[in-house]
Amino acid sequence: MADKVNPYEEMKKMVDKAGKTLGLEPGLVEVMKSPKRELSVNFPVKMDDGKVRVFTGYRVQHNEARGPFKGGIRFHPQVDIDEVRALASWMTWKTAVVDIPYGGAKGGVVADPKQMSVGEIERMTRRYASEIGIIIGPMKDIPAPDVNTSGREMAWIMDTYSMQQGFSCPGVITGKPREIGGSLGRPEATSRGLVFTVREAAKKIGMNLKGATVAIQGYGNVGAFAHKLIERDFGASVIAVSDSQGGIVSEKPLKYEEVWAHKKKTGSVKGFPGTKQIANEELLELKVDVLLPCALENVITKENAGGIKAKMLGEGANGPTTFEADAILAKNGVLVLPDILANAGGVTVSYFEWVQNNYNFYWTETEVNTKLDQIITRAFHEVWDMHEKYKCNMRDAAYLVAVKRVADATKLRGFYP
Ligand code: GLU
Repeated sequence: MADKVNPYEEMKKMVDKAGKTLGLEPGLVEVMKSPKRELSVNFPVKMDDGKVRVFTGYRVQHNEARGPFKGGIRFHPQVDIDEVRALASWMTWKTAVVDIPYGGAKGGVVADPKQMSVGEIERMTRRYASEIGIIIGPMKDIPAPDVNTSGREMAWIMDTYSMQQGFSCPGVITGKPREIGGSLGRPEATSRGLVFTVREAAKKIGMNLKGATVAIQGYGNVGAFAHKLIERDFGASVIAVSDSQGGIVSEKPLKYEEVWAHKKKTGSVKGFPGTKQIANEELLELKVDVLLPCALENVITKENAGGIKAKMLGEGANGPTTFEADAILAKNGVLVLPDILANAGGVTVSYFEWVQNNYNFYWTETEVNTKLDQIITRAFHEVWDMHEKYKCNMRDAAYLVAVKRVADATKLRGFYP
């Protein structure tokens, strides 16, 4: 990661660009670029050795013109306020692209849960939940999982919030385990949405996904399930994967079941039998049909974008491509499926989970997946049409769709007082 890019500044450039194309009033664009509310908290946690450690966390509520704030919580040493601002605003644009009735928010704690015990993670999660409890709520702001958080943390947050309210509040958070109000299909939803967008894009450019080669950067929840679904449902050949410890490449397709079992046993995809070791950087530049970055921001930069040989790049991660890299990819004819469209499956099924919680009636997995397919496919085609109409790349087109929806909502509501 040679160039230090500030993702919040990157987001603002995208909104400015869309605002200009749409001919929006500068004041309105300014409103849409600015996070509405930012909470930063420093809180103590008793560690296993008996010592107290102070953690820093954030919850940024970017925009609620179209509905309650919505967005995940991540635990990572790289978390800082500008990253959380960017992630919060991307949620605003993401929920607008797929047209679900939410705004955007995000939370983060500066921590490395891989170096902490389960007990320490639980105490940190509960105390953070309690600190942000003053601004979240089922009708106000609904968190969800993100990097290094999953159903386990969502259950603790739901419980902590409910204890403080005095009654059970499943609708305060999504991505919960099914036993306590989670939705069927939520764990795979981000990846399922990603492969649906890849499927639609492949049809547009005449790419046959059966036997198409795929490289996946990041093997957490999103990357691993993307491997499973693209192999099982489309017969694509995943030939390289990586995680934070390193990567592997193989002549023969890598089987999801086997790689996942290896990762569960050893903690990494590294060292999977019959494969060659590969650095993350090399994986990005492999000659494959589809490249799926599914980890963190700023992995495709102006330094390496020129070396990308994939025909299609589907962003499972948030913000993997910098503004400058995007221009290089567009020039080289790489079809980029932007994060705010390509990874919106997660928040879409979060929306379904919240709807189910609020009316206390639960859907089958087929209902969830069918509705997800409808929403993602419709959004893909709306963005594609915009891309043709304005002769712009898919990211610009997605921002045009999203920014227009948020601008329209803002104008209709007007400014208080
Ligand atoms: N963290 C996920 C995202 O970035 C999911 C957010 C949600 O479900 O609210 O889209």
